Amino acid sequence: MMSKAPLRKGWCPGARRPMPVKDGLLVRLRISGGIVAAAIMRGIAQAGRDHGNGLFDLSARGNLQIRGVRESALPALIETLDGFGLIDEDVATEAVRNVLVSPLAGLNGRSEAGDAAKALEAMLAANKALHALPPKFSFLVDDGSGLSLGSIPADIRFDWTEGTQSFAIGIGGDANKAIFLGHCRGDAIPGIASRLATIFLRLGSSMAEPPRRMQNLIESCGANAIAGEAGLFLAEPPRRSIIEDPCPIGLIRFHDKHCFGVGAAFGNLDANMLDAAAWAAEIFGAGEIRLTPWRALLLPDISDAQADAISTYCATHSFIVDRGDARLAVVACGGASSCTHGTTDTRSDALALMFPARRLCTTGVALHVSGCAKGCARQAAAPLTLIAHEGLYDLVANQTARDAGISDAQRLGFAAVHGIFETIAGKGGRLSDLENR
Ligand code: SF4
Repeated sequence: MMSKAPLRKGWCPGARRPMPVKDGLLVRLRISGGIVAAAIMRGIAQAGRDHGNGLFDLSARGNLQIRGVRESALPALIETLDGFGLIDEDVATEAVRNVLVSPLAGLNGRSEAGDAAKALEAMLAANKALHALPPKFSFLVDDGSGLSLGSIPADIRFDWTEGTQSFAIGIGGDANKAIFLGHCRGDAIPGIASRLATIFLRLGSSMAEPPRRMQNLIESCGANAIAGEAGLFLAEPPRRSIIEDPCPIGLIRFHDKHCFGVGAAFGNLDANMLDAAAWAAEIFGAGEIRLTPWRALLLPDISDAQADAISTYCATHSFIVDRGDARLAVVACGGASSCTHGTTDTRSDALALMFPARRLCTTGVALHVSGCAKGCARQAAAPLTLIAHEGLYDLVANQTARDAGISDAQRLGFAAVHGIFETIAGKGGRLSDLENR
């Protein structure tokens, strides 16, 4: 049975309260630390076959989603997932436990980030007052590894620096835009996060329209007021530079370890791919799989001598194994094919634009094709974003779909968009040529 808990505006699906979409119920698993044992991954694959349509997604926050679940099959699925230890005891706990931690956390022998994220999750589960946080309110702990979470926004964030106070405390954005409030040790993270989240609720409750994100509260009250209430002070940011998405594909050396990253186009996976990842993790690695927020899975602790074998095996199971694969240049939600809000076939349009998009912007995600202004497929700004409205697109640069919203810009049909991309890329143009067109 689906939960009868009241739906709040902007609610997110979970396991105990899945979201009805076009192909059935969408069950989102918020797996603690993003670490899945191979045997459990195989179990999830089979559960998806048994109770859903055998398809899965990797979300922009590294969550694994089971698709096409039949309402009548939901109780059995929940029982299976509960048996794997993957789900929370109630809807409110799974909703508030929105913590992203570096996918490589702990592999360098430093356990602070992983331990802090676990303690933060436990605090959020136990502190019932914080269950009133808005559905998308998020926390992030970055361990400073090569796969930086710097480009991913969070309401409350802790970015690794150095020294005894290892984490920079940030609020309201990615590592470039967040306001920083000094430094703390890893074991202080749950307490500081609790204070800041409590202040967010308290200050917001006195407003006519309580804010839904920390950025909104900063705009209304000022960062100084928030810092003062928390007993913190505004501080210099740990760094200010252009932060790009890292590429988690292929062989990744991390201290004295190697990992192998495999991508899934648009985050789409099927049960056979999950089985293949589990098999590869057992045969080549440490028997575990790490979920990433970049639509890729990581196999830790592999031998670099086996990289070619892993690559060949995973490529035959439909994973992206080449960093040059143009599909890595584009992200898109399901649009009309899977979402009731979608009016446009975003993924086929994204695939048609991936080569010129890659030529215009040579690293990371170049183009986000969003089915509407909600921008579910990517929270961070992309160099270029197309926002669909009834089959036409708004084109914006360096903005999120949500921030761009619904503009009065001249809407473009797909043929016009394609023509502009091809023309500028064909002339050896750059992204700035497209922005200035
Ligand atoms: S961005 Fe819009 S169309 Fe795409 S999945 Fe989200 S709500 Fe649906």
